[in-house]
Amino acid sequence: MELLREFDPWRDPLCTCPPKLSLNPYTGCPHACLYCYITSYIPHGFQCRPKKDLLRRLEGEAGRLEGEPLISMCNSSDPYPPQERELLLTRGCLERLRGRARVLVVTKSDLVVRDLDLLSRLPCTVSMTLTTLKPGLARRLEPGAPPPERRLKALRKLSDAGVPVSVRLDPLIPGLNEGEIRDLVEAAASAGVGHVTSSTFKPRADSWERMRRGFPELFPRLRELYLKGERRKRSLYLPRERRRELMERVREACLSLGLTFSTCREGFPDLHTSRSCDGSHLIG
Ligand code: SF4
Repeated sequence: MELLREFDPWRDPLCTCPPKLSLNPYTGCPHACLYCYITSYIPHGFQCRPKKDLLRRLEGEAGRLEGEPLISMCNSSDPYPPQERELLLTRGCLERLRGRARVLVVTKSDLVVRDLDLLSRLPCTVSMTLTTLKPGLARRLEPGAPPPERRLKALRKLSDAGVPVSVRLDPLIPGLNEGEIRDLVEAAASAGVGHVTSSTFKPRADSWERMRRGFPELFPRLRELYLKGERRKRSLYLPRERRRELMERVREACLSLGLTFSTCREGFPDLHTSRSCDGSHLIG
């Protein structure tokens, strides 16, 4: 099977992403975020394992790339799990993509800073996910991921070194982190971020069950809200007006601080103020 694959092979009509390829050096992700959807299609999704023979295979595939396409790392895992410290697979991928592609790095890990030397020489951008500034809440929600403070420090370092950075304020979960919208956008702006992409929680059966167990005090209210919403394929969506209200609040905070804004698979492209929804427009 090819390593470089078309992003969004399901062609979700709500996806407004530019054409891009997806590359995952690892299968599965150890961050084990309660809201994550990868466990609905990756067996043992929270067990991270390196892709077999990755760098040799990528060398072959990267040699056939034409016209510096956009490559997103990663969409179904994090390119910087703890194993990456030793294995250097993501670093190896970046080395092989140099001069052949533009790269969008999507992560929750400050390990990304290790590759600053490479990232500052590549046409690339780094998108860091931030869902809360509260360390305790982050531990419950994203038990395997580095705490928010470390992510913000990494953003600052990347931005100071001239690597364009964005934040994914994603997902917003009613009653859990919506009260932090302004603080999160302010923290992103202070860290040198130029763009925010946001979306709401769209549970599937497995993430729904993890949220039920992880946040029993919140769950009855969440269930009531989502019951009033809609089902799209395998995901539940909040009622449209509630999603729009949340996205408008993020947008307002972004505009007041001079950041561009977009949504992810919400169906509100009219709210976008940037050329891309995924932050790739920041690539020089
Ligand atoms: S970091 Fe992303 S891929 Fe990894 S568990 Fe969390 S949401 Fe899933």
